Amino acid sequence: MTRILIVEDEPRLRQDLGDFLELRGFEVTRAGTARDMRSALADDPVPAVILLDVGLPDGNGFDLAAEIRQSHDCGIIMLTAFGDSADRVRGFDSGADIYLVKHSTLREIEAALRSLLRRTGNLPTTEGSDKGRWVLDTANWALIAPDGQALKLTATEFAFLNLLCHRQGEACAREDLVTALARPHGHFDNRHLDAVVSRLRRKIGRATGLPSAIKVVYGVGYTFTASVVVE
Ligand code: CA
Repeated sequence: MTRILIVEDEPRLRQDLGDFLELRGFEVTRAGTARDMRSALADDPVPAVILLDVGLPDGNGFDLAAEIRQSHDCGIIMLTAFGDSADRVRGFDSGADIYLVKHSTLREIEAALRSLLRRTGNLPTTEGSDKGRWVLDTANWALIAPDGQALKLTATEFAFLNLLCHRQGEACAREDLVTALARPHGHFDNRHLDAVVSRLRRKIGRATGLPSAIKVVYGVGYTFTASVVVE
């Protein structure tokens, strides 16, 4: 399991974030002070990523990030209440990989975390709850196969998968899909939809060698049957 260390002095935020990440399949250690962070780093296995609050009662995240960088090889996501760009630059200078403001949603924090883990090769895709999981990357319009292979999508393919993956496991009605895929004033109907889907399924099959998770639901529309995360 991927280990994450949360360093945050607000108990509520520390708990919410920790609970959420545990639910999402991470192993979470929590620290409320710089001192706790140091002892966690000394005693426990090195975390893959540290979520680091800038304002701690006994230290600040900028100094701590620089300190961590000297002794530990792990990702650092800095969390701050402030959003100004001077802080952001300071965050990166001190060694943070990602800088997030605290009003980011838990989903946004998770997405940043996964993207960092993917970049550092620390995202296990073949064990635990990640087994067989696909990722729809909304920033890059890509579908990432469970083996980490990324597939570039066209605008239409992305719109189709975006709707399907948001309703993972449920059937999406043809009418909804046609509406989502039609451009303003353009003509788009069921036949176009089927053509897009069959092209996409072939494309996925060719690139990954995996059976396509896009299935026909007769009389209704389509569904995505595999586990998928939208980020
Ligand atoms: Ca704080």
